[in-house]
Amino acid sequence: MAKGRIEVAVESCKGCGLCINACPLNLLELDTNTLNSKGYQPMRIHTPDKCIGCTFCALMCPDVVITVERL
Ligand code: SF4
Ligand code: SF4
Repeated sequence: MAKGRIEVAVESCKGCGLCINACPLNLLELDTNTLNSKGYQPMRIHTPDKCIGCTFCALMCPDVVITVERL
């Protein structure tokens, strides 16, 4: 199985949730314990070891917040 790792530019995230719906493995959520400096709850990956590096989340994000590395 392919492996991947994502980086989230938390300060640029507006918490729109589009990436959450795009992840085929449902690994993403809004971090309800955090607000960035713009007042948004940013996206986080709750199970990073399951990421397959498919890049769907990054392609969906309108603000280019997510970087995907294939391992
Ligand atoms: S790269 Fe694919 S598997 Fe990994 S978090 Fe993004 S959508 Fe989910
Ligand atoms: S699609 Fe982009 S801006 Fe929207 S929640 Fe995901 S990372 Fe944040």
